Amino acid sequence: KDFMNHLKQLIREVPDFPKPGINFYDITTLLKDGAGLRSVIDSLNERYKGAAIDAVVGIEARGYFFAPTVAYSLSVGFVPVRKPGKLPAKTVEVEYALEYGTDKLTMHADAIEPGQRVLIVDDVLATGGTAQAVAQLVERQGGKVAGLGFVIELDFLEGRKKLTGYDIFSLLHY
Ligand code: AMP
Repeated sequence: KDFMNHLKQLIREVPDFPKPGINFYDITTLLKDGAGLRSVIDSLNERYKGAAIDAVVGIEARGYFFAPTVAYSLSVGFVPVRKPGKLPAKTVEVEYALEYGTDKLTMHADAIEPGQRVLIVDDVLATGGTAQAVAQLVERQGGKVAGLGFVIELDFLEGRKKLTGYDIFSLLHY
């Protein structure tokens, strides 16, 4: 609808970044637009209003733009997932496959309480590899993945197929 198209107009598409063939969805042009930023945050908050969620996990780095405001509106805590070597206390980590090679993500070992219902938030759902890895991290600590929320979903990459059984919401679809 019009509202979604307006938001899409605020997202800059950069061809061949960070490498040839990738069409990069740059949300910085949305973030710097006052009304756009407010709309995105309001929409995510609205989607999860009243949901049974005990903690919101954000994925470094662009997930941090959106996860804390959802946590704030639910009056629950925010938990950062980070690249290796950044978190100071005891961590748990997960390794996941990239197009070439592997990568790792970490979380503090005491960040999630067993039984907590966790919402995972990131900017873009692409192949789903990152979100799947973070869901594993949460579950390994005894958390339950209550949902996965994104601003943008790249439908043609079929990331949802890696995330079957989870409640997935994306504000904008390409
Ligand atoms: P994936 O693991 O393939 O779902 O990739 C998800 C992560 O990569 C997200 O954290 C996104 O920020 C980033 N990402 C992947 N593809 C794009 C894209 N075309 N434009 C912007 N960000 C992307």
